[in-house]
Amino acid sequence: MPTSENAAARPVVLVTGASAGIGAATARLAAGAGWDVGVNYRSDRAGAEAAAEAVRAAGGRALLLQADVADPAQVAAMFDRLDEGLGRLDALVNNAGIVAPAARVEQITAERLSQLFAVNVTGSFLCAAQAVRRLSRAHGGPGGAIVNVSSVAAVLGGANQYVDYAATKGAIDSFTIGLAAEQAAHGLRVNAVRPGVIETPIHAKGGAPDRAARMAPDLPMRRAGTADEVAEAILWLLSDKASYVTGEILKVSGGR
Ligand code: NAP
Repeated sequence: MPTSENAAARPVVLVTGASAGIGAATARLAAGAGWDVGVNYRSDRAGAEAAAEAVRAAGGRALLLQADVADPAQVAAMFDRLDEGLGRLDALVNNAGIVAPAARVEQITAERLSQLFAVNVTGSFLCAAQAVRRLSRAHGGPGGAIVNVSSVAAVLGGANQYVDYAATKGAIDSFTIGLAAEQAAHGLRVNAVRPGVIETPIHAKGGAPDRAARMAPDLPMRRAGTADEVAEAILWLLSDKASYVTGEILKVSGGR
């Protein structure tokens, strides 16, 4: 269980992008590990409702929170709704993220870049800022944990596919290290996971539905990972079992 001064109540985690893939798995497994869950989504209401139902089936309270993480007003309103609906926040998982169809750098437009950085980077900063105001002892909070979702693309570079996406994840790595250092003395741990190729709907959204299956034979373990395998690492980083871990970026990539 995570650190919580809210001793009698279950601790509360907000998972962004919880209507599918790694976020939905994190929400469900978090409930099984004792958390109540804010289930953020942008457009997939049915997916978010299914994730919330899975949280309840696992014994947790779930609150659906529609918001575009790239929009500061929507993010602020989402955290206010979470305060009212679930009580005090204990942790944040910055998971919401997008890719764009494969392109080389000379084909990438400013519009595409803006959209990717807005969701993947600005969205993570905006949500973290709201969480810091609630959790950091520097702001009178109880402490807590943030886990950001990076990607092995941050270190591989995404050549011929999505160097722009890889660069957003490089930014997430820097953000994780910097925010962890800012908050280490204030009871707020900040870490990241760096997934490899994981079987989720994101590949289809990026125009390559068979990407994980196609790449599997060339991956070190000869298979893609599952959303649950990433979620387990996220939950460990959120938990008190990782109480002396901050500023860490944990690869969950099957050796990739
Ligand atoms: P996914 O299945 O496509 O799910 C993405 C989630 O993000 C959805 O719930 C989506 O919600 C949400 N989202 C997208 N834009 C949003 C926005 N502006 N505001 C709020 N929510 C938004 O993707 P996934 O594979 O689980 O990816 C989750 C994270 O893991 C991402 O950060 C991704 O970059 C990272 N990752 C994935 C892989 C992989 O191979 N799958 C590898 C490395 C890293 P709606 O559909 O409701 O809009």
